[in-house]
Amino acid sequence: MKKRRKSLTIENLVIVFLIVLGSISLSQGVSSYRNGEEGVNYISGYQASPGIKSYPLLRTKKVKNVILCIGDGMGLGQVVLARMKAAGLYGKLYMERMPVTGIVRTHSADSLVTDSAAAGTALAAGVKTMNGMLSMGPDGKKYQTVLELAKKKGMRTGLVATSSITHATPAAFGSHVKSRGMQDKIAEHLLANKINVLLGGGRGYFLPKSNTDSARTDERNLISEAETAGYSYIQTAEELRSAQGPYLLGLFQVGPLVTESPEPTLGELMKKAIEVLNDRKRGLFGKSKGFFLMVEGSQIDWACHDNNADNTVKELLCFDEAIECALEFALRDKHTLVVVVADHETGGLTVKGGNLECSELDIDWATTGHTGLPVPIYAFGPRADIFSGVYDNTEVAKKLAQLLGTKRFPRTIK
Ligand SMILES: [Zn+2]
Repeated sequence: MKKRRKSLTIENLVIVFLIVLGSISLSQGVSSYRNGEEGVNYISGYQASPGIKSYPLLRTKKVKNVILCIGDGMGLGQVVLARMKAAGLYGKLYMERMPVTGIVRTHSADSLVTDSAAAGTALAAGVKTMNGMLSMGPDGKKYQTVLELAKKKGMRTGLVATSSITHATPAAFGSHVKSRGMQDKIAEHLLANKINVLLGGGRGYFLPKSNTDSARTDERNLISEAETAGYSYIQTAEELRSAQGPYLLGLFQVGPLVTESPEPTLGELMKKAIEVLNDRKRGLFGKSKGFFLMVEGSQIDWACHDNNADNTVKELLCFDEAIECALEFALRDKHTLVVVVADHETGGLTVKGGNLECSELDIDWATTGHTGLPVPIYAFGPRADIFSGVYDNTEVAKKLAQLLGTKRFPRTIK
C-alpha cells in the first residue's frame, strides 16, 4: 500500500521562476501529489533523452522550414515535473536540450490571464486580442497568420493537434472568427485555406447534421468537400502509415483525441506531417519552397485544469516525444527552425518538495484555471538565437514572419 500524505494548507505560495519577472502570491494549494513506485510508464514507448548535452547552435542562416510546437498550458512547472518524473533531477527532456531559451509574456488585450484563443492569435498573427477571438483584432479586423504568410510564399503548411483540429490553438493559425466556439465555421476556414496537412480530432465538425456523429448545424459534408478538393482522408493509425500528400486530412476521433492506442501518437502525427510537407518531388518545378508546421500538445492544459499531475506528465511526455521527432529531422536537415513554446500556464503548478531521487514529489496547484505566469520558449535551428530573451507573445509571430522574409507584421487582410 502506498502511503498518502495529506496536502498542507498553505497560506501563501510563492512561485519564483529562474528569471524573475515578478512573483505571484497564491492564496491556497488545492492538492498534493505523491509519486509512487510505478516508475515512468505514462506513455508506452517514451524514451527519456539518453543525453543531456544541448543540441548545437547552427551556423546556417537560411530558414527553409519552420516547425512551431505549442504545449497548451505548459508552464515551467509542468516542464520541470515531467522532467523530474521521466529523467530525474539531472536529466533533460528533449525540449530542454534545445540550445536557445527565453521567457514569453502571455496576457491578452482584455485580461491579465489569457485564454488559448487570444494567446494563439498572438503567436499566430502577432496581435493582442480579446479572449475568445481568433486571428482578429479587438476591432474585428482580420490579421494574417504566419501560416497564411508561409502559404503565400509558396511554402506547404500543416496543423496537427491532439484536440479537435478546430480547437482554439490550431484554429488561430488557419481561421478568422470572432468566437472560438464557431467550430463549424473554423472547419470551413481550415479547408478554404488549403492547408496541406490537417491531423487531429474533431470529425464531428466536418460531418453533416444528419450524421449521428455530427456537431454541425448544417448539412455540409466537409469530408467529401475536402476529398473533391484533392485531400486524402484518413481516420486510423493504419491509414496514417500509408497516407500520402500533397493534401492530407486525418480526423482520428469525432471529438478530441483520446491520446491512447490504437490512435496514432503525436510523434507519429508529427513524423507523417513532416514526411508529407517535405516531399521534394512535389511542386511544379520540382523544387520545394519549404514548409510551416504547427503541432500542438493540446491536452497538457486539460490535465492541468483537472489538477491531474499524472495526466499532466503523460501529455507533456507525448508532446516531448513529438518534439524529438521534429528535432531528429531538423538535426539532419540543417535548414529547419524548431520553436517550442506554450500559449499560457494552467493550474499554477509548482513543485514544493520531494526527495532527490524524484521518487517522491510534493506538488501544488494554485487554481483550476489559467494563470498570468510567463512561459518558457525553446529554439533550435538556423537563426534560433533571435528567440532568446524576455518578450511578449506577439513577438513570436513577428520573429517568425521576419525569418520568412516579411518585416511588416502584423498585417490586416480582407
Ligand atoms: Zn485551458
